[in-house]
Amino acid sequence: MLDYVGLEADLSAEEKLIRDTAREFVAEEVAPDIADHYEAGTFPTDLIPEMGELGFYAPNLEGYGSPNVSERAYGLLMQELEACDSGLRSMASVQGALVMYPIHAFGSDAQKEEWLPALGQGEVVGCFGLTEPEHGSNPSGIETRAERDADGFVLNGEKTWITNSPIADVAVVWAKLTSDDGSPVRGFLVETDRDGVKTPKIEEKLSMRASVTGGIVLDDVRVPEGNVLPDVTGMKGPLSCLTQARYGIAWGAVGAARDCFETAREYQTERDQFGGPIARFQIQQEKLAEMATQITLAQLLAYRLADLKERGDLRPQQVSMAKRNNVRMARDQARVAREMLGGNGITTDYSPMRHMSNLETVYTYEGTHDIHSLILGEDLTGIAAFE
Ligand code: FAD
Repeated sequence: MLDYVGLEADLSAEEKLIRDTAREFVAEEVAPDIADHYEAGTFPTDLIPEMGELGFYAPNLEGYGSPNVSERAYGLLMQELEACDSGLRSMASVQGALVMYPIHAFGSDAQKEEWLPALGQGEVVGCFGLTEPEHGSNPSGIETRAERDADGFVLNGEKTWITNSPIADVAVVWAKLTSDDGSPVRGFLVETDRDGVKTPKIEEKLSMRASVTGGIVLDDVRVPEGNVLPDVTGMKGPLSCLTQARYGIAWGAVGAARDCFETAREYQTERDQFGGPIARFQIQQEKLAEMATQITLAQLLAYRLADLKERGDLRPQQVSMAKRNNVRMARDQARVAREMLGGNGITTDYSPMRHMSNLETVYTYEGTHDIHSLILGEDLTGIAAFE
């Protein structure tokens, strides 16, 4: 596997073990069928509990059965999962960074005890409902409302583009609480079997096909007082979850690019044209050289992020830079790998075009490339170009 500047040498035994466990799981359990799932538009749901047993959901958290591994180990895990398919990494990202993290950071003791062990083991599936039909890049405009009633809250609204909603047991729903002191955003744990909840699947996707995506429709859904996340108010709630998930994406995208590179490199040495392997042509070698260089630079950025996160110094803007750069890099390099495979490159027999298509989603979700440009622009100039 590509590791041009010898990063392997700095890994601890635990980090290598976690990476190798994920690599082996992917090779044996997922890779053989991933193209079929991609074509069918399904996720291998039978693997969800096994992924839990292997510690793939938020292993970087502390307590409630979570092993509290290093941030680098967590990143390496995301890299191996996305080297197989962005849909596989999305499963682990959503369950861990977008569902377990907010319960861990902002939940009550009762919520943590009820949900964290079960989510960590993959006995239940969670989803994260922020985006709405009219509010994607501007989540502070969300219209989903929570009103107090005698026993708790009544929720009304609609979420869309929600990873895993059709297969989820519980949704973290971000809604505005109608109250005398404004409409602060609050997080609610909504069991999907409650009266008034619907989670229709979005069928027409051409990207991220091996991942289930849907909506969450809330029609007078009653939840008890104990279902609101007590320790966070305002956009800090959802945005801090997104920082966690974007960190994993910055690592994961490198995995997708690495798999494209390895596939293209192997093809170059095996495919003969004009009486020998196409790898002997300078144009092909230049493409491999550029790919290896771009992947290595993105890898270094991800490793640096891990060190900053480990010591508590990581700023969301630095995560924006890495998400923005590494996903664009992976998207560009997947396309180069695809072209290096000629006609075979457009089939599901090889991974680059599947990665390329998945990366269109990764480029768009968790803050589009443009939005991360604006976050960086504000950080660099002190002038906000958006609200
Ligand atoms: P829009 O916000 O309408 O943007 C359209 C275009 O306008 C983009 O190119 C954007 O960059 C650009 N644009 C918008 N505002 C500006 C600006 N101020 N300046 C310059 N350009 C701008 N959401 C969840 O809550 N939970 C999930 O689990 C989840 N999973 C997803 C899974 C998939 C497969 C997909 C596709 C999306 C998922 N999302 C999820 C939603 C995702 O986060 C949104 O699609 C994303 O935030 C963009 O919102 P939008 O699609 O409404 O695009």
